[in-house]
Amino acid sequence: MIVQLKLNTSEEKVQELIKRIKDKGLDTTYVVGDNHSILGVLGDTSRINIDELEAQEYVEKVIRIQEPYKKANRAFHPEDTIIDVNGIKIGGGNIVVMAGPCSVESREQIISVAKDVKKAGAQILRGGAYKPRTSPYAFQGLELEGLELLKEARKETGMPIVTEIMSSDLVDRFVEDVDIIQVGARNMQNFDLLKKLGKIDKPILLKRGMSATIEELLMSAEYIMAGGNHKVILCERGIRTFETYTRNTLDISAIPVLKKLTHLPIIVDPSHATGKYWLVDPLSKASLAAGADGLIIEVHNDPACALCDGPQSLKPKKFDKLMDELRILSKALNVRL
Ligand code: PEP
Ligand code: MN
Repeated sequence: MIVQLKLNTSEEKVQELIKRIKDKGLDTTYVVGDNHSILGVLGDTSRINIDELEAQEYVEKVIRIQEPYKKANRAFHPEDTIIDVNGIKIGGGNIVVMAGPCSVESREQIISVAKDVKKAGAQILRGGAYKPRTSPYAFQGLELEGLELLKEARKETGMPIVTEIMSSDLVDRFVEDVDIIQVGARNMQNFDLLKKLGKIDKPILLKRGMSATIEELLMSAEYIMAGGNHKVILCERGIRTFETYTRNTLDISAIPVLKKLTHLPIIVDPSHATGKYWLVDPLSKASLAAGADGLIIEVHNDPACALCDGPQSLKPKKFDKLMDELRILSKALNVRL
């Protein structure tokens, strides 16, 4: 970190600042130039409050050299993190496909879709029990009943389940019942929830907020990791842009950028990224080609009657064909699906 000091800052102020920084266990180098004086700060600068520094009347500006996320940073953990979910490996060249309906609607629906996606080769079953809907009048999910039905589908198929948590009051229940806890885009910066998820030992699927930068996504992962839970899977699910043709804009470049910045696995949700079922196929392929560690895809037995996200849901037959093609692509990419 570099602190640029204002012209004519007194030596007394400089020494006072150096002492404050050293008291936090960091080193400093002071360079006096003709026009500017700068103070280099060396060490773990996450302990420094930049706003407080910038608020000092003698500080011109503060420039960060290192990223503010440490535990998620590849610089300090060069190898890919591989997360094991009941023997299924996520990350490190293993491709995982999570599939299932947007929402759990009934026993018949979730069990039939679970069987179909398993047959097609998906490893993990998705299904929302608690749904974050824009309208309070829209279907809100079957809640606890939905969770029970997901558990039945897991028993029936042997597939681990991933489902979204919306309230920190339900953390204990989710730890007990599910294999991967999803934090949806709308809760990416629910810091109270993230802190609670940091205290548990369960994989977290952290979706990128709709207007979140890559750094903000990584800082949310850092919240979970700072608590001690390092099992974080990132999910790019499209971001808000000026384009309205698609539901969101899939940020394909976020995949290689995240691969460079972090060791955490990255999966892509082409369903919520586009809002259109016919875009799921090309964007799934593009995501794997760009280096994603997996996909989360919405599949519904009867999209026309789905209670949520029908237009972006694949029918089982289309999903099956896509999986065949993804297996061929994986060979060319030298990754395991
Ligand atoms: C979902 O996965 O069902 C969902 C609501 O996703 P997102 O949080 O990305 O909108
Ligand atoms: Mn959905």
